[in-house]
Amino acid sequence: MATRILVTGGAGFIGSHYVRSLLKARDDVSVTVLDKLTYAGNRANLGPVRGERRFRFVRGDICDPDVVDALVREADQVVHFAAESHVDRSIYDADRFLRTNILGTQVLLEAALRHELERFVHISTDEVYGSLERGSWSEAEPVRPNSPYAASKASSDLIALSYHATHGLDVRVTRCCNNYGPYQFPEKVIPLFVTNLLTGRKAPLYGDGSNVREWLHTDDHVRAVELVRTRGAAGEIYNIGSDTELTNRELTAVLLEGCGAGWDMVEMVADRPGHDLRYSVDWAKARTQLGYSPRRDFAAGIAETIEWYRRNRDWWEPLKRAA
Ligand code: NAD
Repeated sequence: MATRILVTGGAGFIGSHYVRSLLKARDDVSVTVLDKLTYAGNRANLGPVRGERRFRFVRGDICDPDVVDALVREADQVVHFAAESHVDRSIYDADRFLRTNILGTQVLLEAALRHELERFVHISTDEVYGSLERGSWSEAEPVRPNSPYAASKASSDLIALSYHATHGLDVRVTRCCNNYGPYQFPEKVIPLFVTNLLTGRKAPLYGDGSNVREWLHTDDHVRAVELVRTRGAAGEIYNIGSDTELTNRELTAVLLEGCGAGWDMVEMVADRPGHDLRYSVDWAKARTQLGYSPRRDFAAGIAETIEWYRRNRDWWEPLKRAA
């Protein structure tokens, strides 16, 4: 019998990529997506799997215990992507982040416990570790989040892990670095800069552009999530990284070149409050225990991503207008 997987946030950037990849790669799973369709959720991201008989979409809120209970009851496993995910928004509207990211996760965990769910994969971020100038955080590092977004994700990680320690629920946590790829909402730095440049607008670069992020293609992230789901162990945290580190200035240079624009198309803007300087994860555990390593080359992946935005204006133009 097929494994029934409930994917929360499956209409977002990474969740939809996971669903599309999973249904293509495996015929032994069925997928139900639970997604509230906030501004960041988009049914069009699931267009390629619409009509697939092993796929079902339910619009609903992970904070709603009745909706969650009914869906978890019918599932074997949960892969939990749903979150408010944009750091800038968390600075001005933290309430929504705490509700969805913390309480929503707890509602899911309670239902998972009640229905003796086989497995719960909780998708988190490198941002929970906080900033570091050199070296890389291992999974043993305590969390030191700085933004309300990161703090809400760190809280949800700890709550998820507490359900393993306290109740024995099979919870697995992933902490991934920054993702890039198609279907990313055009408020995040790469699609924001690319869609601005493609429409003759300037790219707003924070501060002096020296902040460093580690970049991974969504293909590699969703493959790692699948490795954690199928080969990981209960109660474990897995960092997912790429070792592709770029300052925001370096990233901007790549995007300018890819869009055929010069530095005159960059506007230096006031830095984000509390902007973490650098994140970096040590992903040796995922490599040695799960056989994970990134496959996508950054230069080729980013060129392909820019090309996707160039060719899919009908996907992002309405989103940009609405935003
Ligand atoms: P996204 O903002 O593109 O998608 C989030 C999805 O969750 C949307 O479809 C939205 O409608 C849905 N959602 C929001 N609130 C909900 C609620 N209350 N109930 C049901 N659905 C709700 O985010 P993303 O970039 O795809 O990130 C997915 C996950 O991966 C998040 O948990 C995020 O913290 C994590 N993550 C993201 C990155 C990254 O670079 N984007 C890196 C590491 C980890």
